[in-house]
Amino acid sequence: MIKEAVVNKKNGHNLNVFSFEDIGDDHIYTGLETPMKKDAFKRSDTEKKQRIALLFEEIMDVMGLDLTDDSLKGTPERVAKMYIDEIFSGLNQANKPKIALFDNKYQYNQMLVEKNISFYSNCEHHFVPIYGKAHVAYISSGKVIGLSKLNRIVQYYSKRPQVQERLTNQIAEDLKNILETEDVAVIIDAKHLCVSSRGIKDESSATVTSYYGGQFNNASKIAELQNYLKD
Ligand SMILES: [Zn+2]
Repeated sequence: MIKEAVVNKKNGHNLNVFSFEDIGDDHIYTGLETPMKKDAFKRSDTEKKQRIALLFEEIMDVMGLDLTDDSLKGTPERVAKMYIDEIFSGLNQANKPKIALFDNKYQYNQMLVEKNISFYSNCEHHFVPIYGKAHVAYISSGKVIGLSKLNRIVQYYSKRPQVQERLTNQIAEDLKNILETEDVAVIIDAKHLCVSSRGIKDESSATVTSYYGGQFNNASKIAELQNYLKD
């Protein structure tokens, strides 16, 4: 059934035939860049934490929670600190891992696969966790990076409100830039708590997304990679 166009009265955005609720539950992906305001970093981290704590206290208060309770009274500050310093720290480019490139002195020119990189992210439509494993592969164009850096790049982009498609592509695009090659592959296999713990309440489904660049757009390379990913 086709729904009528919903127009957001505040800024006049036409959402085609979808409501905001549909977009959230269907996890529609709108672009490679995380949508950020121009003045996103005008406030310092300290100011952001103070403001978030006040606003989160308000949310708890509106829900009727007793903020004088010993167990609850520190929650607004804890949430604010967790948002800025931990789970959404990847919004700030200042927290991007510093990556050093090395010459490929072993002349290793086959694919390198770093598999089963655990990550925790959060769905940008519901602000509940997305978690799973990322598998990253590349073929060196003459430069290599430390293995733990592959891990750090995955963690950095995970620490944003995300959709899985964007997370996959942001990791791949950054690796292509760093490694100066198109020959990069990223596969993410993840669980979305907004799917398993609410909404459709499907406990068993998982979502797999992939990016195959350059030489990875080749059936034999994909088969080789899939073979390495078998446990
Ligand atoms: Zn969601």
